[in-house]
Amino acid sequence: MKAAVLREINQPLSIENVSIDSPKPSEVLVQTKASGVCRSDLHYIEGSYSHDLPVILGHEVAGVVIEVGNNVSYLSPGDTVVGCISIFCGRCERCLGGRPALCLRDPIWGLLRTAEDRPKLYKGNETINQFLRLSSFAEMMLVHENALVKVDPEVPFEQLALVGCGVTTGLGAVLKTAQIEAGSTVAVIGCGGVGLSAIQGARIAGALRIIAIDTVGSKLEMAIAHGATDTVSALSNNVVEEVIEMSNGGVDYSFDALGIKVTAEQSYDIIRPGGTATIVGLIPEGVKIELDGAGFIDEKRIQGSCMGSNQFRTDMPRYIELYKQGRLKIDSLVSQRLKIDEINKALEDMKTGEIARSVIVFD
Ligand SMILES: [Zn+2]
Ligand SMILES: [Zn+2]
Repeated sequence: MKAAVLREINQPLSIENVSIDSPKPSEVLVQTKASGVCRSDLHYIEGSYSHDLPVILGHEVAGVVIEVGNNVSYLSPGDTVVGCISIFCGRCERCLGGRPALCLRDPIWGLLRTAEDRPKLYKGNETINQFLRLSSFAEMMLVHENALVKVDPEVPFEQLALVGCGVTTGLGAVLKTAQIEAGSTVAVIGCGGVGLSAIQGARIAGALRIIAIDTVGSKLEMAIAHGATDTVSALSNNVVEEVIEMSNGGVDYSFDALGIKVTAEQSYDIIRPGGTATIVGLIPEGVKIELDGAGFIDEKRIQGSCMGSNQFRTDMPRYIELYKQGRLKIDSLVSQRLKIDEINKALEDMKTGEIARSVIVFD
């Protein structure tokens, strides 16, 4: 099968022919239909997060089940599925405590395969690493059944793929991690696929004002189209002051969809006493953020969000239903559709910051 392989940091992905195992117990072979290109993939290409190489990236994905391992009862060949990096073991303290996105995870492989014997991809005698237990920049994926949710087959694959990461991450940060109240004032920093989903989460939850912040004018226009009530250009030197003035003293909830040191710090600076900042984007490994310590006496809070605090087997079908009802816009998040051979263009385009999401579509 054709796959896009990362062999060296900061180099283009190479399109290669690789082979894949067949499913062992609890595993599922999936034909990839659509895979979004997410900023997290770029983090690994640029080396701000590290991974063993070579590796096939990609984790925002929808497809169709081809074959299942001999004890898989949840799925059958022909099912439409969305993949999620939040694979759950279903037996650890986090899973049983209702927070499966924070699953302690390792037991799942103890039940099935050792760490050395995870699903494998090959090129000749060479082993190619799997990424976040998915590796969706390839025509097929071999994954554990607990990394998949069965979804409505009538929704287009590109839209389903985006639910697999960006939509769930943004929507979930607002609805599940921060759990904002109707009438809240919200600010979202970064208006790509995740930020626009956070804006929609705030709209769906009944936020009174939703302030969108980005450097790119066209993205601020998109933010308005997805529910933002106000915009602030991040090109301004006074982003924090502008948001504080606009919101009469700071917002109740802020969301940093970018995960850059400066935006993470801004997300804390723009909340009012008692407000909560939620870091949604991936802050590169080793980066420290600095906060004004005096803010804690005002009960200002800052917290992380892991993939929208998802319980993806129940959340994703709900988000897809919101889409079907027209209350969640996903079509407009798909900026361009490309073939796997054009994946490096998608990665380059992401760096310019002009687009919401590129989606790789497979025949
Ligand atoms: Zn992602
Ligand atoms: Zn678990």
